[in-house]
Amino acid sequence: MSYVGENWELIKETLKKEYDLSIVAYNTWIAPLKFHSEEGDVINVLIPGNQAHILNYIIKKYKDFFQVTISELMDHNYDVNFILETAATPVGEEEVVERKLESTNDHLYRQANLVAKYTFDNFVVGNNNNFAHSAALAVAESPGEDFNPLFIYGGSGLGKTHLMHSIGHYIIDNNPNMKVLYVNSETFTNEVIEGIRSGSSSAMNKLRDKYRTVDVLLIDDIQFIIGKESTQEEFFHTFNTLYEAGKAIIISSDKHPKQMETLDARFSSRFQMGLLADIQPPNYETRAAILYKIAETSHKKVGNEIVEYIAENIKSNIRELEGAFNKLIAFAKINNKEITKELAEEALKDMIYPDKPKMITPTIIIQVVAEHYGVKAEDITSKKRNAEFVLPRQVVMYLCRELTEVSLTDIAKILDKKDHTTIMHGVNKIEEQLKTNPDLVSQIDIIKKKINPI
Ligand code: ADP
Ligand code: MG
Repeated sequence: MSYVGENWELIKETLKKEYDLSIVAYNTWIAPLKFHSEEGDVINVLIPGNQAHILNYIIKKYKDFFQVTISELMDHNYDVNFILETAATPVGEEEVVERKLESTNDHLYRQANLVAKYTFDNFVVGNNNNFAHSAALAVAESPGEDFNPLFIYGGSGLGKTHLMHSIGHYIIDNNPNMKVLYVNSETFTNEVIEGIRSGSSSAMNKLRDKYRTVDVLLIDDIQFIIGKESTQEEFFHTFNTLYEAGKAIIISSDKHPKQMETLDARFSSRFQMGLLADIQPPNYETRAAILYKIAETSHKKVGNEIVEYIAENIKSNIRELEGAFNKLIAFAKINNKEITKELAEEALKDMIYPDKPKMITPTIIIQVVAEHYGVKAEDITSKKRNAEFVLPRQVVMYLCRELTEVSLTDIAKILDKKDHTTIMHGVNKIEEQLKTNPDLVSQIDIIKKKINPI
């Protein structure tokens, strides 16, 4: 092997240090690169996999770094040439990256509406999301430059929101001066409705200012604005303004733009100008890797047998996988039992039998409502009287009544209420408001879609 070939690992390590690469960037882009050959002054480097987008990206971003590092280390000027390895080998499957986050940027994360636990570090890469993960990381490294807009799509609970927040965190960690803003398209819709309703032009200007002056806009679940005319129009102009200014736009949706039936052609073409990346349901290995990650981050110990049992049986999406894990932990705690395979079978029986149509349970409703209103599930089921928990709690009561067969008395137990009259009262409250409050009608509609997306 040539001199450069023998020193390949040292070259990569040096490059990492010299250019201060993050661990996730190093592991994703640099670590998999292999030395191929040396021809005169040219070093050929192999990129595993057959993804052309990665080839171009690496050339643009890292070629110079390699040339400088190799030339300096070897004391000789080299040119570096990247080639795709034809025999496709998977890139970074099940790669789990360890990195301590400094939390000095907490206030920036908050301003950007980012949830702390959704970072690249906590995102397990498997062959179902490998492409979306590398696209997301590329955008995080060079916001607004490549792949603009990035459009991430895939079914519910597969990690779109997690990836979007990861992009936001990464950008803030590396460029604290960039203005990052994450918004769910429902929030965006509500803000537009509010602005229009107020009738004041200053309210609309404020809204425009908020969204059109950012460097990075992450807009989640875009399917919710489709068909809502004024909101769509507002977003269209926001998109154009940001795009023309070279600002980064990251969009997520449950479907490919072509499959979004009522999507305006103007949007469809714009969404396809950058890069489209899909996320598929995870395979068994990825499901198991994700469960190990969840166990690790929540500091819960469960045996391999249990992880295998859940990974084998819960297949549809990662939100359910997490739900199953949490349910098992809670079940063991309530019953004061050790976590064994038998206990897992008992705890998860209604989640696991695949032939049964999917049951909507109060647990699922509470989880979705909590997420929707940005509160914790525990707060909804607690006795806390804070104003911000009242509406979510009543919505849970209403939806349990409407979507499940669970009795009022049992709903009361789950919500830690004295008896069924409180539940009835909550249900009535929502029913009354639904008659006069179109906002609430649309909120309930969205929540129902989230609970049962079909
Ligand atoms: P989506 O936005 O596609 O509906 P989310 O991003 O909300 O899905 O993911 C659902 C849950 O699954 C979240 O708690 C998220 O952290 C977790 N999750 C999804 N994908 C992964 C992954 N690859 N690694 C670890 N956790 C994941
Ligand atoms: Mg989401």
